[in-house]
Amino acid sequence: MIVLDLEWNRGYDKTPLDEILQIGAVRLDRPGGRIVDTFNVFIKPHVHKRLNRTAKALPEIASSLSSALDFPTAYHRFLSWCGEEGDFAAWGADDFDTLNQNARYWKLPPLEPRAIYDLQTAFSLTLGTMQNIALWWAVEYCQIPECFSYHNALHDAMYTALTAAWIPKNLLELSARPRWTLRYFLHPYPPQPSHLVGPHPSLRAALNSRTARKGVCPLCTEPIWIQSWNYFQPGTYYTDLLCPSHGHFICRLTLSQGEDGHWKGRQEIPDLTQALLEDYGRARIGTHYPCRGGSKRRRRYRRRRKDHQHERNDTAQAG
Ligand SMILES: [Zn+2]
Repeated sequence: MIVLDLEWNRGYDKTPLDEILQIGAVRLDRPGGRIVDTFNVFIKPHVHKRLNRTAKALPEIASSLSSALDFPTAYHRFLSWCGEEGDFAAWGADDFDTLNQNARYWKLPPLEPRAIYDLQTAFSLTLGTMQNIALWWAVEYCQIPECFSYHNALHDAMYTALTAAWIPKNLLELSARPRWTLRYFLHPYPPQPSHLVGPHPSLRAALNSRTARKGVCPLCTEPIWIQSWNYFQPGTYYTDLLCPSHGHFICRLTLSQGEDGHWKGRQEIPDLTQALLEDYGRARIGTHYPCRGGSKRRRRYRRRRKDHQHERNDTAQAG
């Protein structure tokens, strides 16, 4: 695994480029393992004429300004140092975006890792939170001796690599996934029964039926009323169930039309598998179907409000 860190300058001009000033990286013999090699280059900026405040404050900025290397040369050196390595990691997701942004700007091939581990996310998950944690905070938390100054890409890559030793393997694996999927892993749940839905005379009736829309938290069985469905292919509908105490769960509704023209199917919280996440991921960006009508309680509430309005109108007319 290669752990990467970058320093860059955003600049004050109109060119939308976070111009890289330093690439630092360390190679580990395995995720969370020993540092077996290091890489460091300072890069002379060529695009932005002025440095922003963050770049100006970098402890090693003089080394970048006096460097003989431009980005293409430094980038090629980095790629050849990486060799055939497929697993990469960084603190947060910005560094890989910035690296590829610079590669695109100079019309160079992007870095295409097999997996990118976000150690900041993995560290947050280790502490049971989804909040972003600063690298210096994690270093203090792990009581890693702070021998090196921060905001030097090589030093930060070393610190990042050292925190990886504190992260359980399964959470490290999770951190290579898209960030939106992580919320579903925070609260594991036992296998859940499925519920029959229908038959209903129309698809719309089935999607809006009480049995389809009545979700429950798989951990506390708190009822959660479903407001909308998302689908990529008609017939399989997904929604996100949010329990106030236990967080997010994926709920799936499958419906099909019988020979008699009626719609029926099943609603369930399936086991959390890679396939489920991929299907739900497609549905999330697919078609959104807002359900019609509320629960009985909401309907009753609306009716009451309407009655109140009538009463008020009557009073106004009488007055
Ligand atoms: Zn719950």
